[in-house]
Parts: sequence; structure tokens; C-alpha cells
Amino acid sequence: MAEKPNRQDSTTQRNPEKQPVHPVFDWRPFLFTFITLFLYYSLLQPNQAKVETLSYSSFKTMVAQEGIESVVIQGFKIYGNAKSKDDAGKPKRIQTTMPEFNDPTLLPLFERHDIAVEVRSSELPIWLTILMNILPWVLIFGFFAYSNRALQSRLGNGRGGVFGFGQSKARRYEKLAVHISFQEVAGLESAKEELREVIDYLKNPEKFRKLGAKLPKGILLMGPPGTGKTLLAKATAAEANVPFFSISGSEFVEMFVGVGASRVRNMFEEARKLAPALIFIDEIDSVGRVRGTGMGGGNDEREQTLNQILAEMDGFTSADPVIILAATNRPDVLDPALLRPGRFDRKVTLDLPQKKARCSILAVHTKAKPIDKNVNLEDYAARTIGFSGADLENLVNEAALHAARTDKKYISHEDFEYAHDKILLGAVGQEIVNKQDRHRIAVHESGHALTALLLPNADPVAKVSIIPRGRALGVTETQPEEDRLNFPQDYLEDKISVLLGGRCAEKVCLGGVSTGAADDLKQATRLARSMVSQWGMSKTLGAVSYPQHEEHPFLGMELTQAKDYSDVTARLIDEEVEALIKRRETETLELLISNKDKLEKLAAAVQEKETIDADEIEQLLHLK
Ligand code: ADP
Ligand code: ZN
Ligand code: MG
Repeated sequence: MAEKPNRQDSTTQRNPEKQPVHPVFDWRPFLFTFITLFLYYSLLQPNQAKVETLSYSSFKTMVAQEGIESVVIQGFKIYGNAKSKDDAGKPKRIQTTMPEFNDPTLLPLFERHDIAVEVRSSELPIWLTILMNILPWVLIFGFFAYSNRALQSRLGNGRGGVFGFGQSKARRYEKLAVHISFQEVAGLESAKEELREVIDYLKNPEKFRKLGAKLPKGILLMGPPGTGKTLLAKATAAEANVPFFSISGSEFVEMFVGVGASRVRNMFEEARKLAPALIFIDEIDSVGRVRGTGMGGGNDEREQTLNQILAEMDGFTSADPVIILAATNRPDVLDPALLRPGRFDRKVTLDLPQKKARCSILAVHTKAKPIDKNVNLEDYAARTIGFSGADLENLVNEAALHAARTDKKYISHEDFEYAHDKILLGAVGQEIVNKQDRHRIAVHESGHALTALLLPNADPVAKVSIIPRGRALGVTETQPEEDRLNFPQDYLEDKISVLLGGRCAEKVCLGGVSTGAADDLKQATRLARSMVSQWGMSKTLGAVSYPQHEEHPFLGMELTQAKDYSDVTARLIDEEVEALIKRRETETLELLISNKDKLEKLAAAVQEKETIDADEIEQLLHLK
């Protein structure tokens, strides 16, 4: 058995919010600026057209030579009409600037030459002065406000403005902006049923009020990552056709102390104003962790935010038709205060989809894509046990990408096969060139496969491959016939044998073992330990459960869990685990020794072909 990549991780960071985009260049602010600047300068210099500028001395010379008819003095500027005409037959106009020291000879000069002098106030009209003083500010402020608004809307927030610092960052989806209908959410029937009631209430709160029926204020959607919690919340808002406020718990924690709490207050305030409305707090576990357990302190912000959420939820009455949805994939770490009556007291669980649901999720995501006739979606639904909705979406997308890369018009069986292997087994790694290594890996994988084929309770083999993928050097894919929620003891014991089969085959065919089985041993041991200590599957210990704490060592809750059994029991557990593994190893070795011919045949075929599937194995070994 190969070491399988941990698919859960790949889906935890999914963030499907779509940010609004601004693909078209917006020229309006530039036009605005241009016009304003133009106005500004044309007001400043009122009559500049076709005026010749002279130096002060040439101007005086011109006056002395009787070249000037009349002058207008405005401040330090002198405008003059010359006696000579321009091309258009009008008096030529000139201008000059007086020196800042007073020239006492100027006025007598004008008098001597009989020049009409008009003095205008250097002050501009009062309205012009005011306008000119405020215009630059209008310009600056306008630009600032504009760019701020543009930035805000790029962040997906229509409101806020320049001073919207502590405002709720919740995105408000306008009524028709979300087009997710319940039909696009495949499976999840019981969750949908539960939310239909909410939709009914939001659409017609009067009906409920008249009957005195009270709906819970808060509904908590719980389920593993990628099972469609966010999707379902959006679909609920779309179906109810009410204002939808959505915020992610992780967004609260990003800023200064106090901002999160004020955002919560704002969001609730606004929702109440627009009621009936729906509030959705995604990933609530990031603010809603049990208080006072944070490691290393510094959780003030989180606690304040959580307290604010609790206060707001208590604050509104049933007269406000506002429903709060929250989603989490860690309900176990939530603060109990959140789950008390009057808060999130209704819980809706979203499980990983079963085969039928997987098939309909695949159908939803392939609906708008050109799919080749040779693709059997049911087949892939059967082969994707443990996949979440998001994983299935990813499968379809990887297949489409592969089809595009190979320039195909339709997404075919081969594309799906490629995507399936890539997601389930990891990307193809570096090829192993060394012939001895290849032989050993072929033997090892054949050992897993043959054990699985020969044991009655093991999952059937789907594929054996010595193409390295992810961390694994080779892969034996087994495929359960159906989704199982409950595992009988003989199934688990055979599974341990299959895990040990690789190492046993190396012993049988090559006379020694290698490091390649490290992960197999780890998995087998973990399984055996659970069987002995938690599932009461050992005769010596009997039906007793001794919790083994290994998960989530960094979360507050688990830290307190102490070993509550004696050292003698611990030793007994260890011994039982060891005995179970030993027994299974001996049996597997015997099985493979008595089928050594088949093992060698299979290994040779695997080494030659690199990948062989269930049908080919059957033909090769004449098993049925
Ligand atoms: P969660 O919030 O539970 O982690 P999401 O709602 O973000 O999961 O799901 C991620 C994506 O997976 C969705 O956008 C959707 O495309 C797909 N998906 C998940 N569950 C379903 C489902 N039941 N039906 C259809 N698509 C689903
Ligand atoms: Zn192995
Ligand atoms: Mg989500």
C-alpha cells in the first residue's frame, strides 16, 4: 500500500468568494481633473489671448516713441493697446510687468505722452477668490475619495468610504447578485430540508409570528472542509432573496484590538435595519474557540469579538427576522457559550457525500462542460470514496485542464483517469532508473496487490503501478465496493495483512526487507493500536476503551487529556498490538510463499508495463 497524500489538507484553505474585478480602464477621474485644472488656470489668467509680452524697458521705450494708445494697470501688470494694427486690423495688444519697487517716472511718462490710464483693482472678484481657494481642495479631496472607494470596492466592500475603518467588512450580496440555487447544491438533502424552513421564515416572517412560532436565531453548519457549507449558506440567501451579510471568522482577527468587535456591532446593526436578512459567519471556529485556552496569550481581539457576537445574539428579539448562519469544520473546539439555547442551538451536519451524492455533485459540475460519451460518472462516483464536494469539483476541473492541454474538444475518460490518479495518488514524480530499485518496488507493490486479491475480506485491487507519485515510490490502489461507515474486525485484520504484504513479498522474493515499507508499518501499527485500545478487538484486554491521544497536539482542548490508565495497561496494549501484527505478518508470509509463482508473475508484469489494472491482473493470474 502506498503512502497516500493527505487530501484533507488541500481543501482547508479554499476560499470561493469571488472578488469583483475592474477590467475596464476608468478615465472619469482623469477627465474630471483635466476640466478642473483647465477652469482653474483660465480663471487665473483672464485675458491672455493674443497679447505680446514685452520687457519693462522695451515697454517704456515704446511709450516714449508714442507707440501706445492706452494702458490698463492691474496690480503689477500693465496691459497696453498699441497704435499699430495687427493682421486682423485691430490694435495690437501688449503686456508687461512693473518692477516691484515703485518706478516714479512711469506715471509722468504716461502723462507726457497723453496716454489714457485706467487702473483696475488688483483684487479678483470675491466669488472668484473663493472659488480659486477651494478648487484645489475639491480636486484633492475628490481624487482621494475616489481612489479610496475604488480600493474598497476592489476589496469586495461597497461601503466604508474614507472613514470606514471600524465598519463591518461583511460583504453584502445584493439580492440578485448570487445565482446559486438549491439545485446547484447536490446531495445534502437533510441539511437543505432544514434550511428550507429558514427560507420560508425569511420570506414570510408574519406567518410565523402570528402563530407564535419561534425559529432558532442561529444555525450552525458543521462538516469537514469542502462539503459545501459556504455554498449552502449562499444558496440559502439566494433562495430566500434577502440581504446577505457574509464575513469570515479569520477576517475578524486581522486587525487591532476592538476593530473586530465594532465590525460585529455594525454588521448586526445593518442587518437589523434591513431585516429580514441573513448573516453568515464563515469559519466561526477562528473567533469562537473556547475562551482562555489560547497558547501564548494575545487573544484579546478574538475574545472581544466572540463576546460581541454573543451579546448581539442575545440582544435581538424574535421581532427581528434576522437569522445567523455559521459554519465550522471544528465544532469540537467551539466555546460552549456559542452553543447555548438562544444562540447556535440548532446544528446541521454536512457529511462527506456518499456514492449517490458524489454522482450528483459530479453531474452538477459537469453540466456546463463538454463531456465525452465514454465517461461514466457513476464509475468515478464509486472510485472517489472520501472525496468532498470540493474534491469532486477539483477532479472535474483537473480533467478539463488535461483535456485543454491535449487540445481536445471533449473531456474524455482518459482525462478523468489522469485527474483521478493525480488527486488520489499525487502528481507523477521522478522516474526511477535503477533496475534493481524498479524490481524491488514491483515486487513490493505486487505483494500488496496479491494479498488483497487472495484475502476474502480485503478491498478489491483497482490498479498497481510503479510510477512514483507524491511521496510514494509505487502505488497499489484498492477500491472498496461501497461506502462503509462501520468496519468489521475481519476486514480490519485483512487490511493489516495487505499493508504488510509489500514487506512480506520483499522477504519472499528478495530475501530481505528495505526502507520502502516504513509508511506501511506506521499505518498497520496505528490500525492495530486502535483495534486493541479503542474498539475492544483484543481478547486479553476485552471491550475496554483506552483513549490514545495523538491528534491536534496544539489545540487547547486536547492538551488537558491525560493518560487515564496504568503503566501496566499501557504495556499490555503494546504487547497486544505487537502480537496482532506478528500474527498477521506470519500469515501473510505463508500466503505469499504458497503463491510465490503468482507473485513473481505479477511482479514481472508490473515491472514491464509500469501500470496494470484489475482486468489485466485477472487475465494474467486466472484468478476467477
Ligand atoms: P466548505 O465551506 O464546506 O469548506 P465550500 O462550500 O466552500 O465548502 O465548497 C467548495 C466548493 O465545492 C463549492 O464552491 C462547490 O463548487 C463545491 N461543492 C461542495 N459541496 C458541494 C455540493 N454538495 N454540491 C455541489 N458542489 C459542491
Ligand atoms: Zn507499501
Ligand atoms: Mg467554507
